[in-house]
Amino acid sequence: MKKKSLILIFIIIIFLSSCSNSSAKYTQKYEDQFFAMGTVITQQLYYDDSQKVFEEVKKRFKDIENSMTINTPGSLVDNLNSKSGSGSFVKLNKDIIYVLSKAKNFASLSKGSFDVSVGPLVKAWGVFTDNPRIPNKNEIDKLKSLVDYNDIKLNEKSLSASLKRKNQIVDLGGIAKGYAGDEAIKIFKKHGITSAFVNLGGNVVTLGGKPDGSPWKVGIQNPRGPDGEYIAIVKVSGKTVVTSGDYERFFEKDGVRYHHIIDPTTGYPSKSGLISTTIVTSLSIDADALSTSTFVLGLEKGMALVKKMKDTEAIFITEDKKIYTTTGLKDKITITDDNNEYEYIK
Ligand code: ADP
Ligand code: MG
Repeated sequence: MKKKSLILIFIIIIFLSSCSNSSAKYTQKYEDQFFAMGTVITQQLYYDDSQKVFEEVKKRFKDIENSMTINTPGSLVDNLNSKSGSGSFVKLNKDIIYVLSKAKNFASLSKGSFDVSVGPLVKAWGVFTDNPRIPNKNEIDKLKSLVDYNDIKLNEKSLSASLKRKNQIVDLGGIAKGYAGDEAIKIFKKHGITSAFVNLGGNVVTLGGKPDGSPWKVGIQNPRGPDGEYIAIVKVSGKTVVTSGDYERFFEKDGVRYHHIIDPTTGYPSKSGLISTTIVTSLSIDADALSTSTFVLGLEKGMALVKKMKDTEAIFITEDKKIYTTTGLKDKITITDDNNEYEYIK
């Protein structure tokens, strides 16, 4: 056969297969909800074989959770922590090595404001347990000295890592959900899906826009309002929107709020003046690390870091109820603060 006719047949096959795809695969919206990584996860797909894809994502998320959790003895990250200070490298897996290398990168970019070796402090405060407490100053100072991302040594070839000093603890709570979000998108793409939306307890990841081509609308939680009350809507296509806030997990004692994001330099819940930070970018792992980083860094240093990053936008809310955004977001954000509780600084 001549080269020209071969090419023509090839084009016809591609055309026919794309026709059958668009008519059979993208007719209606399918939704699935499950619990993993300590939160409710919702997936939305426009794809007729969605059940199979939902199950694949669910399995992937459970695998990520099982290897990265520090609440189950014997998980890979727990193995790493329990061998801290022994000098031996602990065999991990590709996922964890990638997440740890990203974590170290963001630790260095944020000058240690984001540091996954913050585990001893997170554990001492017990914000996630039924018995949260305020550790005394002595204890905090001792535990604070254990926090140093430079002590996480990686061997990417053998997929292993070690923690230099005894009692050091890696806690991937500030980055793992971001990674899982990116993995969901990978699975969708593998199936040829072009339109999807996943919400991992406030971490949103999207693939493409809605099937009609319009962008997804992502609500930004009012940090001082009831759950589900939004103060802004952001329009995105193929981007992730990740928020860190002091309202997500906290306890109160004598009128003081103690939340779950720890400032490694003080050892106390971060008091940077920010109560919510949202990052909009391409990779959800980056957004997750950056939302936690900027929350600790505060308005000025946080904005400076965001501006240094490529293709990255942010929404910061301060405790005196002002909303700041990067310039790239101005035409994508709608403030829906009906009570005029917040002031939008343009
Ligand atoms: P959420 O998990 O509520 O969405 P974040 O992504 O901001 O919120 O992560 C907060 C979690 O990250 C904490 O629960 C803790 O496990 C961990 N963490 C707390 N402080 C830090 C920090 N300074 N750097 C890195 N991880 C942190
Ligand atoms: Mg985070």
